[in-house]
Amino acid sequence: MIRVIMLSPPGAGKGTHGRWLTLQTGARHISAGDILRAEVARGSDLGQQVAAYTERGDLVPDELIFRILAPEVVAAARHTGGYVLDGFPRTMPQALRAAQFGADLALTSNAVVYLTAPEQELVSRLLDRARRDGRSDDTLGVIRHRLGVFATETAPLVDYYRDRGILVELSTDRPEAEVQADLLAWFQGRGLIQPLAAESRPDSAEPAAER
Ligand code: ADP
Repeated sequence: MIRVIMLSPPGAGKGTHGRWLTLQTGARHISAGDILRAEVARGSDLGQQVAAYTERGDLVPDELIFRILAPEVVAAARHTGGYVLDGFPRTMPQALRAAQFGADLALTSNAVVYLTAPEQELVSRLLDRARRDGRSDDTLGVIRHRLGVFATETAPLVDYYRDRGILVELSTDRPEAEVQADLLAWFQGRGLIQPLAAESRPDSAEPAAER
């Protein structure tokens, strides 16, 4: 079963492609941002603490993140044997603690998907999303701040996971179907997705030659 970390700057498509991976495999999609937004919407004490950070585009402190997300990951892995983590870990301390936690519970990630796109494209996608969804942190100033936070806090995780041999880097500055075909080929090449599961999809993006 796949146990995946989606690692990418805001707007690169980790939500879209993460959800697609869960549809292919039955692994559970766990979006850090969605879970935090739900907590904020509940108006709990915890939610109010979280909102103070997310509204500015700053990262929520590691301690809070672990308190909120750790039970979700454990539950997902228990139910489906797999997970697609969208938006976590995002800092080196989070990555190191997640690795320890994963090792203790035999839930270690087996893939990290690093999605990229040019900065201008990221900004324009997020501004489009703001018009559609009205997310309060999708304003130009906060978007730029989130991209800066990604560069300083999250980008170092790319080399960390590349060194561990589990990273696949893909550009999303092209049609979604091409990205999906590359993802499928990579996961199949690693034996993490069986070709049959992919072929049974009606809209399979897999090239016939690979069957
Ligand atoms: P995006 O990737 O577009 O910035 P997300 O929905 O993944 O959007 O995250 C929204 C916000 O939630 C982040 O800007 C940050 O404030 C907070 N957040 C999400 N994941 C984490 C995390 N792992 N650690 C700290 N803060 C987080």
